[in-house]
Amino acid sequence: MTAGSGYRQARWEEPPIWDLARRPVAEPAPAIPGVPERWRRQEALRWPELSEPVVVRHYTRLSQMNFGIDSGTYPLGSCTMKYNPKLSEVVARRAGAAQVHPYQPEATVQGSLEITWRLERALAKITGLPEVSLQPAAGAHGEYAALLMVRAYFRDRGELGRRTEVLLPDTAHGTNPASASMAGFAPREISSKDGCVHLSELKGALSDRTACFMLTNPNTAGLFESEIVEIAEAVHAAGAMLYYDGANLNAILGVTNPGRMGFDVAHLNLHKTFATPHGGGGPGAGVLASGETLAPYLPVPRVVKTGRRFRLDYDRPKSIGKLKTAYGNFGLDVRAYAFLLAHGEEGLRRISRRAVLNANYLGARLGRRLPRPFRPLVKHECVLSGTPLRERGVRTLDLAKRLLDEGVHAPTVYFPTIVEESLMLELPETESKRELDEFAAAVERALDDTPENLRAAPISCAVGRIDEVRAARAPILSWKDLRGAAAKVETP
Ligand SMILES: *Cc1c(COP(=O)(O)O)cnc(C)c1O
Repeated sequence: MTAGSGYRQARWEEPPIWDLARRPVAEPAPAIPGVPERWRRQEALRWPELSEPVVVRHYTRLSQMNFGIDSGTYPLGSCTMKYNPKLSEVVARRAGAAQVHPYQPEATVQGSLEITWRLERALAKITGLPEVSLQPAAGAHGEYAALLMVRAYFRDRGELGRRTEVLLPDTAHGTNPASASMAGFAPREISSKDGCVHLSELKGALSDRTACFMLTNPNTAGLFESEIVEIAEAVHAAGAMLYYDGANLNAILGVTNPGRMGFDVAHLNLHKTFATPHGGGGPGAGVLASGETLAPYLPVPRVVKTGRRFRLDYDRPKSIGKLKTAYGNFGLDVRAYAFLLAHGEEGLRRISRRAVLNANYLGARLGRRLPRPFRPLVKHECVLSGTPLRERGVRTLDLAKRLLDEGVHAPTVYFPTIVEESLMLELPETESKRELDEFAAAVERALDDTPENLRAAPISCAVGRIDEVRAARAPILSWKDLRGAAAKVETP
């Protein structure tokens, strides 16, 4: 026997190492008594014949075709795409948090209820609004719930027939008017002046038909509505409710809060401000925080503490009812609670200070290249306009696509809608000055590129420029096997 002769044993006919395919898993189904024969699978299932490494590479490659907060900077204005600390992941994945069943008896989930209760108390302090529910699954869900609460309140007062309007500024996020209509109100837009609410216009629009005014502060132009006290007074003088869209809370954490500003009810997005995973459609975690007036209408169940025990309380006769199975997206609540404990009160103030510094630094640097439509001092995000690109026959959209070739995510574009060719930048506190400089340099390189390259971008991504109209009008939402000669994409 010579050294290495054992190699002769290997044969191509043998399955490769880690072969998943040739397992006897695909037999025709056995007969089941009482089930008609024609329902029985007659042929073996056609499993794909692939080895484990091939499958792993396929899914790894798919994951790399996407962009996430762990792949690079993500300046998506209004979305507060901050780093999600792995510490929160470790905590949320512990069995006590990850393996509980939503309908376990209360006595066996005291720890989960305590986390919920403690997080609610912390958020009450942060918002300055005393009653909190973690039930909504996202910000928009919270908006909708709050407007149902406003509806129930006016129904109780016998004013619902009359109070049919919800006012909102023209800078409002699209979910605000959508939630208002879904809750049965007529949304009505107020125009802004220099990016902020025009107080006299608001006063002109307020009447005994107004149910609610929805506002975010700082607003989507990144500007603090400094007339907020007068705004709250005017809204309340008209007998209406003031709603706080809390998506921009990152700018004011520990500095001020919606309760102090005079808001009656608010939503927060744990998946924005409190560093829980965000994007790709969820799961998100909205939060409802309410002042005394609307608190009786909060969804049930509420988590209450009696002595040292925690329980779910359904006995709230004025409640709008239950919004979601179980009690919100608990895994995200655990992550947010871990995040709050890790930072503490002073840490939260540092977060907002740093987020504001970042936005102003980015605004000042890129403001040398692109016009800034509003006053330069902003809170957590800044808005620029891509109108000068038009001279070279390109648009903000082309710039956004070109940035993808730089390996960064594009900013929010064409929102807020009151700015022509708008770009909205937000790199939150988790990004260092070095990251800000690298991002700004990427924007500058993109601006200096040729119109041809800008219009052709992206060229380095898994997917090139898509037909956005077709993607919206004729989306392909389920997998179809398009291999073979007639690989045509069907459009409905
Ligand atoms: C993100 C956002 C919302 C909606 O929140 P979702 O959690 O995405 O439903 C509402 N208003 C503003 C200003 C936002 O940025």
